[in-house]
Amino acid sequence: MTVRGSARMRRVSSNGWRVPSYHCELAWLGDDQAVADVLVTIDGDRIASVDPSASPPADATRLRGLTVPGFANSHSHAFHRALRGRAQAGTGSFWTWREQMYEVAASLDPDRYRDLARAVFAEMVQAGISAVGEFHYLHHGPGGVPYDDHNAMGAALIAAATEAGLRITLLDTCYLQGGIDVELDETQRRFSDGDALAWATRASALQDAPTVRIGAAIHSVRAVDPAAIEVVAAWAGERGAPLHAHVSEQPAENEQSVAAFGRTPIQLLAERGAVSERFTAVHATHVTEDDLDALGGADSWCCLCPTTERDLADGIGPARAMRDAGAHLTLGSDSHAVIDLLEEARAVELDERLASGVRGSHDAPSLLRAATTHGHESLGWRDAGRIEPGALADLTTIALDTVRTAGGGPEHSIEMAVFAATAADVHHVVIGGRVVVSDGHHVSIDVAAELADALP
Ligand SMILES: [Zn+2]
Repeated sequence: MTVRGSARMRRVSSNGWRVPSYHCELAWLGDDQAVADVLVTIDGDRIASVDPSASPPADATRLRGLTVPGFANSHSHAFHRALRGRAQAGTGSFWTWREQMYEVAASLDPDRYRDLARAVFAEMVQAGISAVGEFHYLHHGPGGVPYDDHNAMGAALIAAATEAGLRITLLDTCYLQGGIDVELDETQRRFSDGDALAWATRASALQDAPTVRIGAAIHSVRAVDPAAIEVVAAWAGERGAPLHAHVSEQPAENEQSVAAFGRTPIQLLAERGAVSERFTAVHATHVTEDDLDALGGADSWCCLCPTTERDLADGIGPARAMRDAGAHLTLGSDSHAVIDLLEEARAVELDERLASGVRGSHDAPSLLRAATTHGHESLGWRDAGRIEPGALADLTTIALDTVRTAGGGPEHSIEMAVFAATAADVHHVVIGGRVVVSDGHHVSIDVAAELADALP
């Protein structure tokens, strides 16, 4: 499989224009109901004030529909977008899907990765996403040979996010073995730094910037041995950085972990210092009650990726039990079977209904919180994901007059947005005070054309 580059995608995008104030027809300010006629003023990249106002100033831009904080996509592998459509044909399992995914990985170099990620991140922006947690493990060239700049691939992702107009938390991922005591295969050699100290040296060369945070990730207990887990956890701890890990996505991972270490993946990660209030367990589909107690007790995050988990036949994560144990829920589009945080949000509740026979474990405001406030916090953006003075000025407006969302009335606008709207109903997006989506279109990128160009 090849991924084409394109000279015309080399242009640097403008990042949208600034507007001094918005008058929101309806705004979700974190409560159970939306508030009508809210005036939001902007100062630079921050929200200056939030006030109910029936008579806004003449220069305020009217936002019709429901305005919510920008969404946080807390778990992404940008290049997996190339599998959309292709991976849904035929039969198989997570493990056969992984073979297809490795084919795509093998075709990428920094230039192609930048083009592909720019288009995928622009798709996210158009879906109302203002920050992405990119779980990045494709570090090196063919055979595992580093590029001249050892962080060329990470730099490509950061540049792509900047051009697309959203913030990125680059979760630089340690990946050292093909399975517990299994050698790396040809593709996996590109993921590995050789050992954890080499990983730490390379990751330490990456730097935060106003729209960039550097975090760490442990790919999984399959790919990172216990001593290396300690090194990555210590690196993140020294920096106060987010630390993410794939956890218990498949029953086979649990079986292998228990057989090798006498512990579940969460128990092993906790024992080695990884589980804290900065830790996100991605998936956590097949966890025990003790695992949930460990995550909740540490004030950790659980990132559910329901559209990927159902696509890969992973199972349904115990979202209510996670929350009841004290863990906080976040959402990710992961493999990008679709990029639609509203679909991820409602899937948490709707999948739980199918699994439990009970309706209403997660109400619409709590699902929106997972998609916004919690997601940003888990990615190290504690000053985002809220419409309040001082927060980063991220506003995602969902149209309530489309064929999917018309009717229902303002008192049910949050439920309408979460349970019926799609990414296609996002018609206006502001990130860091800049307009990046207007009338449903990215202001500087033809997203569909760039996707078609960048994807095989
Ligand atoms: Zn993942």
